[in-house]
Amino acid sequence: MLRACRGVRRRGAPPSGPAVRWTKELPPNLNVTLFHVYATFAPMTASSSTLSHERTAVAAACRRLGAEGLLIGTAGNVSVRVDDRVAITATGAVLARLTPDQVTVVDLEGNVVAGGLRPTSELDLHLGVHRRRGVGAVVHTHAPMATAVSCVLDELPCIHYQLLALGGTVRVAPYATFGTPELAESVLAALDGRSAALMANHGAVTHGATLDEAVENALLLEWACGVYRNAAAMGRPRVLDEQQRSAVIEAAVARGYGATHPVPPVPPAQEQEPTKGESR
Ligand SMILES: [Zn+2]
Repeated sequence: MLRACRGVRRRGAPPSGPAVRWTKELPPNLNVTLFHVYATFAPMTASSSTLSHERTAVAAACRRLGAEGLLIGTAGNVSVRVDDRVAITATGAVLARLTPDQVTVVDLEGNVVAGGLRPTSELDLHLGVHRRRGVGAVVHTHAPMATAVSCVLDELPCIHYQLLALGGTVRVAPYATFGTPELAESVLAALDGRSAALMANHGAVTHGATLDEAVENALLLEWACGVYRNAAAMGRPRVLDEQQRSAVIEAAVARGYGATHPVPPVPPAQEQEPTKGESR
């Protein structure tokens, strides 16, 4: 398994990408599905039904997304699943300043089991992704670049190989009113085979096996949308073709892209037999 570096990142610099494992087998049809990115799913164990640890982690993730400029006011929501419980942000909370008590715990049917605040209005969307995709965490934002792209394009083309970590081309789910089952269905369809989707005239959704991975995917998508915007301002962006995408996968597998690798130890110098007349 190959894991991405997670060092300190300057704002505007490309994110290091999610923790990914590149498949070694390339499907015969060279489309975006050849870039299977397998996250290593490590099921979490709930310390208690109140998910106190996860509520703290969700609040911290929201504050990080806010610091990265992906959140505006009360817009957006984040959730993490443990077994049959989901810790999810409350509706009306300012995410960039979120505290653990503003994270509510629900079951997979949406019934509140812990916390004093009503969950986000996009609860159906989160629960749908958790149930059908079996992911560990979901992030929804109205991030500026992603939202701008969602207002213009039907899909974000694969203009940079790092987008392959999200599944390649990112679909834009058709518009529907926020919080509706129609929007949830539309986004779920757009996420098929992907870990990211844009929502027309609305925002973005990413998921991951872990909360960190879902957040990294959100940062990666926002960066890619910014790259597209900047490139499109200068001309028509080139799109990586199927052969180029395939080569990226092969190179990533061969070189262990996205992971740190220790320098091999230097072998100790061989002791030489002294030549004749030479003293030790
Ligand atoms: Zn929204």
